[in-house]
Amino acid sequence: MGTETEEDGRTRDAGHGEDDGPAAGARRAARRDAAVRAAVARGLLGPGHPLVALLDVTGIRESAAGLREAFAAVTPPGTPVLHAFAVKATPLVPVLRLLHTEGVGAEVASPGELALARAAGVPPERTVLDSPAKTPAELREALALGVAVNADNPQELARLDALAADSPSGPGGLRSPVGIRVNPQVGGGTIEALSTATATSKFGVALRDEGAREWVVRAYLDRPWLTRLHTHTGSQGIALPLMARGVAETYALAEEINRRAGRRQVDTVDIGGGLPVDFTSDTAGPTYARYARLLKETVPGLLDGRYGLVTEFGRSLLAKHGTVVARVEYAKSAGGRAVAVTHAGVQVATRTVYAPAAWPLRIAAYDAAGRPKAGPVVTQDVAGPACFAGDLLARGIPLPLLEQDDHVAVLDTGAYAFAHHYGYNSLPRPAVHGFTVHPADGADGPDPMDGPDHAGGPEAPGDGVAFALVRPAQTAEELVAESGGAHADALLR
Ligand SMILES: *Cc1c(COP(=O)(O)O)cnc(C)c1O
Repeated sequence: MGTETEEDGRTRDAGHGEDDGPAAGARRAARRDAAVRAAVARGLLGPGHPLVALLDVTGIRESAAGLREAFAAVTPPGTPVLHAFAVKATPLVPVLRLLHTEGVGAEVASPGELALARAAGVPPERTVLDSPAKTPAELREALALGVAVNADNPQELARLDALAADSPSGPGGLRSPVGIRVNPQVGGGTIEALSTATATSKFGVALRDEGAREWVVRAYLDRPWLTRLHTHTGSQGIALPLMARGVAETYALAEEINRRAGRRQVDTVDIGGGLPVDFTSDTAGPTYARYARLLKETVPGLLDGRYGLVTEFGRSLLAKHGTVVARVEYAKSAGGRAVAVTHAGVQVATRTVYAPAAWPLRIAAYDAAGRPKAGPVVTQDVAGPACFAGDLLARGIPLPLLEQDDHVAVLDTGAYAFAHHYGYNSLPRPAVHGFTVHPADGADGPDPMDGPDHAGGPEAPGDGVAFALVRPAQTAEELVAESGGAHADALLR
């Protein structure tokens, strides 16, 4: 595989659903349309369930394959490459298990995320722990399991020193690969809150600060068990060349450490994640293949087989494969503006509601039966159910006029959206269903005869869509329990 030229790599892209051009986007949209239709027909969505989240299993598999292929095409055969999915992007156990079967491990950043990865069956040697605030207990657990750890700062490294000294297999006898996260300070992108390589970012050791680079090199020379180097330049809004520059700076540091150590002490470079996603169209954005080729041009030495690689992509693996579908409860007009009041708002797309300019989402209109809605386009607002005026998923967008009992689909919400529930107004977490569409009859035309008889069934004959429950909707009982229901008298004593 790795002996193929880049031209070959490019040719192969087309066959792996990873040509994220219009054709792949159209296939995704066709699968989505079939799933929305089937969800309505089968009652996953209805008056009693006005909100649901759907995950396109085929799309997730295609993205994972695209990632594997992209790095296989730019590294010699046998180069160790661990793709570790950034669990924070979609913290759902069945998703982590699916990715694991697709050869993708887990990057975790909290005890909760580590527990999810373990529940999904991701083995410790395919798990990486990054976080800026690891407690001694978290570090001890990770080292006991053999999970890779990237130390964020000198104080964390001191804690690791103590744990290494206490190791059952003798001082320095750590089972886990351990590295240090560096911030190459190459600059930020268009979204300040997600730019991790600015001069003053809270993450990693700021490499260009006075004395920092020398401190890092000495840290490695003093600790033979430090074998990795980690960077993550940022998420969404970071241009590819800036990401590649961050990786190049990190590679140069690995080379410097190894030169001064006189051996290949750093054997693996963890290049982080951060590939941006196009939220404005059905096109996914830059492909893994494009990014891998850019890295091959910018940092050829990193990909020549001397180093193992770890990647930590999150958003780019999942965002395009999730859809929130909500019923239009009421359609009204205010000050001449049409407003659709739906069940999808701040609780499932928090960033979009609070920072609409940075996080625009596309909305698709479907009719009461879940068919794509046609008709003249009208400027309208799409509002959520929460009790504050800003709870709008879209303002003044052109859509066929939404009416009561229609549906809206909030697109590209598979990462950092419906899996990041925000408990405003005690709105419940929606159910999440995975779906697959069988091409023979599904994508082109769901069977209109399929009715509520099939509600809840895994697969209704005819429409070609199979659903699988990923997470049930939160119940009122669960909401009460989470809200101190068992302690109702607590403040009366
Ligand atoms: C958030 C994060 C990622 C994933 O970023 P995406 O933009 O979702 O690809 C990877 N690594 C680290 C350290 C992160 O904090």
